[in-house]
Amino acid sequence: MISDFLPQIDLAKCIGCDLCTKVCPTHTLAVVNDLAMVVHPEACDYTGACQEICPTQAISLTYEIIFTTTQGREPSQKQANEPTIPKL
Ligand code: SF4
Repeated sequence: MISDFLPQIDLAKCIGCDLCTKVCPTHTLAVVNDLAMVVHPEACDYTGACQEICPTQAISLTYEIIFTTTQGREPSQKQANEPTIPKL
């Protein structure tokens, strides 16, 4: 299965140094025509090693934010002291 959250490569910043491909444990990335590419998205384990080693900050990782309830409270339950946000 291919993740929705893959390394994003800013090709304008990539200098084709090949460091990201060398540290990727699953060989997700490759340098093609002097630019890093995600060539095996299904293999990405999301280790973050590529982002860490990139000397030009060309790689960013997207993250999924999951909201959970706190202290057993459902998100839709409103406490009495919470302000009311008017609907527009
Ligand atoms: S480490 Fe960064 S600059 Fe080097 S090839 Fe990968 S993305 Fe490009």
